[in-house]
Amino acid sequence: MMIIMQPGATRAQIEHVIEHIREQRLSPHVIEGVEQTVIGAVGESHAVPTSVFEGLPGVQTVQRISKPYKLASRQFHPHDSVFPLDGFTVGGEEIAVIAGPCSVEGRSHILEIAHAVKEAGANALRGGAFKPRTSPYAFQGLGEEGLEYLAEAREQTGLPVVAEVMAISQIEIMTRYVDVLQIGARNMQNFNLLRAVGETRTPVLLKRGLSATIEELLMSAEYILSGGNHHVILCERGIRTFETATRNTTDINAIPVLKALTHLPVFLDPSHSTGLADYVTAISKAAIAAGADGLIIEVHQDPAHALSDGKQSLTPEAFARLIRQVRAVAEAVERRLAGVPQSATRPV
Ligand code: PEP
Ligand code: MN
Repeated sequence: MMIIMQPGATRAQIEHVIEHIREQRLSPHVIEGVEQTVIGAVGESHAVPTSVFEGLPGVQTVQRISKPYKLASRQFHPHDSVFPLDGFTVGGEEIAVIAGPCSVEGRSHILEIAHAVKEAGANALRGGAFKPRTSPYAFQGLGEEGLEYLAEAREQTGLPVVAEVMAISQIEIMTRYVDVLQIGARNMQNFNLLRAVGETRTPVLLKRGLSATIEELLMSAEYILSGGNHHVILCERGIRTFETATRNTTDINAIPVLKALTHLPVFLDPSHSTGLADYVTAISKAAIAAGADGLIIEVHQDPAHALSDGKQSLTPEAFARLIRQVRAVAEAVERRLAGVPQSATRPV
């Protein structure tokens, strides 16, 4: 439930409410607004009557949150969540583009792509060091060596780095090297892993599971938020349907639906949602038109020889073209690409 404090409630009154929340074996989550403080009391709250909090000093009203996900819901947090990453913000007016190879394949390989995507206008670099491959005989990633190369790429380009974490045992080392932890589609309901990244304060990019509903995605986000990690980006990456012309089916609907249900930033991964490089630009434009807050795109200097996901990888030249087109769509929906000075997109 949400306990809405009166405007001007004192720190002591807020602390007093928090004590009562803990007495009920619930966890308090405080949102300090400009005018009012709202305190979420989450846990098994259905058996706790609202009257426990209603009469406390400084409390204005108490409301139950109707959705099964609480901290992720717009009801609890009506304004968009906006948070900074190195050099740009996520979830606000700016649209962020993360780009890079599916996997880090070597030092010169990742350094070259990092410089190319930066040059084209990317705001962050992606690259897998631990890869979730369908076959155990396929390239599994370079592990820690790959993380070291990613860190060097960040040093050279200034781009923050996004990489997938597949196991709890990898979290400690990964948080030393990367700026955003990606939870892959196959791990969206690995609840122990979600809890463990919720204990960190490293931003998380949470991908939708292959056959997960939007509500299941939000429940997974709730696991991370309830651990106190509020920096969660949701990522639609295509779902399994009967269609075989593309690798997955992009659920464009998910973008406005998620924007209505949650305050969390919503990204699209058109590389995995289509599986084919030829469609990535079209679907990127559709996503921005539909209200996405960002994109994560696979780029490789030699897609035909990529060690993973070559078919869906763009060349740096194709990626530069995508950025130019997406920039125009962003302007049409009164947004702008991060890292681009306002005057460069909107002539005054
Ligand atoms: C990836 O980003 O390379 C990846 C494996 O994505 P997903 O988990 O969405 O399949
Ligand atoms: Mn991939």
